[in-house]
Amino acid sequence: MLAEFETIYAEVPADLAGWLAVQQLSLTIDGADAAAAEEQVIHPASGKVIASYPQSGTDHVNAAIMAADRAFSGWSRTPVAERRRMLEQFADILWERRVTIAMLIAAETGRPLRRAFSELFFSVNYVRTLAAQELVERDYSQEGISARLVHRPLGVAAAIAPWNGPVILAVAKIANALLAGDTLVLRPAPQTPLSALYMGMIARDIFPAGVFNVITGDAAVGASLVKHPDVAKISFTGSTATGRLIAEAAAPGLKRLTLELGGNDAAIVLDDADLDAVADAVYRISLENAGQFCAAIKRLYVHASVHDCLRDRIVELMQGAVAGSAFDKQSTLAPLQSATQQTRVQGFLDDALSRGARRTGPDFSTVGTEARGGFFIAPALVEGCDEDFPLVADEQFGPVLPIIAFDDEADALRRANANPYGLGGSVWSGDIDRALSIAENMHCGTAWVNQHGAFSAALPMPFAGQSGLGMDYAHYGVLEHSRSMLLNVKT
Ligand code: NAD
Repeated sequence: MLAEFETIYAEVPADLAGWLAVQQLSLTIDGADAAAAEEQVIHPASGKVIASYPQSGTDHVNAAIMAADRAFSGWSRTPVAERRRMLEQFADILWERRVTIAMLIAAETGRPLRRAFSELFFSVNYVRTLAAQELVERDYSQEGISARLVHRPLGVAAAIAPWNGPVILAVAKIANALLAGDTLVLRPAPQTPLSALYMGMIARDIFPAGVFNVITGDAAVGASLVKHPDVAKISFTGSTATGRLIAEAAAPGLKRLTLELGGNDAAIVLDDADLDAVADAVYRISLENAGQFCAAIKRLYVHASVHDCLRDRIVELMQGAVAGSAFDKQSTLAPLQSATQQTRVQGFLDDALSRGARRTGPDFSTVGTEARGGFFIAPALVEGCDEDFPLVADEQFGPVLPIIAFDDEADALRRANANPYGLGGSVWSGDIDRALSIAENMHCGTAWVNQHGAFSAALPMPFAGQSGLGMDYAHYGVLEHSRSMLLNVKT
């Protein structure tokens, strides 16, 4: 597989924009194309327009929900084994078209093609894992009654997916909804519509018309989708601020909600940790991908005795960062998704520096000319931050990481927990019991030991604090698309 990561570069067409135009990506409503005005996609590694795509308006929202509503009665009664078979077929075709999908992800995110391919690889695995889930009925029978708790689909689900994992986060929503028997209207982020539109077109040959619809559109389109009275379930991944707006929109109809929101994950590095392993995780998860991962390490608390050594090892890795075209094999660094994100992250850094913090880290190397116009920020560690600096207190979602020394483990834990988010956290130590005694007191959905951000579709993903509502993956994501019902018979 690793070899294929590298050979994929040979398949990049010379005229990428021409190749993208030939894909003729379209909305999928009721199993067919729908006409719409054109909008542009900016390639973040160059800052230039790379493609155009059909932009939905509220008419498309209404048409897609109507199609999903019509399809619900048949789909909800389709045996679960049949729904599972179709999802497996969907996974097979995603894999068959892996080169095309990886190129679409790289075009819309600007990330190095090998990273885009890796997202596709994990996405296929996610669909297969979620398609295999079972919702188990439970028997509560007792003297005089036969009682069974069963699970039934909810209806039309609206899914709003973010730009930072345009395929993997969308396929999880698709698999959860369709396996449960809900029909779906997916709206990808306006920055990354290409891969979702392509998946909608693939799905037309697999699922009955109306079962899986893909529209696009801006925040107003997203708002009209979640407010629509015929939507029974909302699955949203994005910021905590937008999550609150969606919860408000869901309140009048008490729509079922899964909210996967922001995070400000802390990693606590003890004095006996394997510093090479920590440096590798910090660089790969938080810096090389420009920090654009919900569960990136966003605050790094390091025991004072190993602080400088760890900092220097991370800086060594940063020296290898190369910014350039997503399609150039030498590029390793992801750009920020947009000029807005670039300005926002730069703002966190400038603010911290203006309060007396120090930036540590090299400037990145660049290949080609693209990087100059791209939305890159050189990865950096920031020393000398107080807890109330916005760079520490808020979610930066960028490659600018505060590194904070501590002497006392209890104090490090208190600081890690003094934050309204609660997505993930980690403790790093050569002594697992010692690490666990801290990890089990972290206020977060997943506490890792000697790893961070290691999600899997086979493992539950809970949320604490303002990082979300509900629970995803394993069978829980499917359960969130179902209503429980007790069948209670007098015997
Ligand atoms: P965002 O909240 O700014 O936007 C998300 C989407 O919501 C956008 O596509 C936007 O058009 C849409 N939107 C805006 N207002 C809306 C409304 N009123 N109704 C419906 N839709 C509306 O988030 P973002 O900047 O695109 O994504 C980054 C955020 O996502 C980060 O906070 C990150 O941590 C989070 N995230 C969380 C997870 C997780 O699993 N917890 C995973 C990935 C990303």
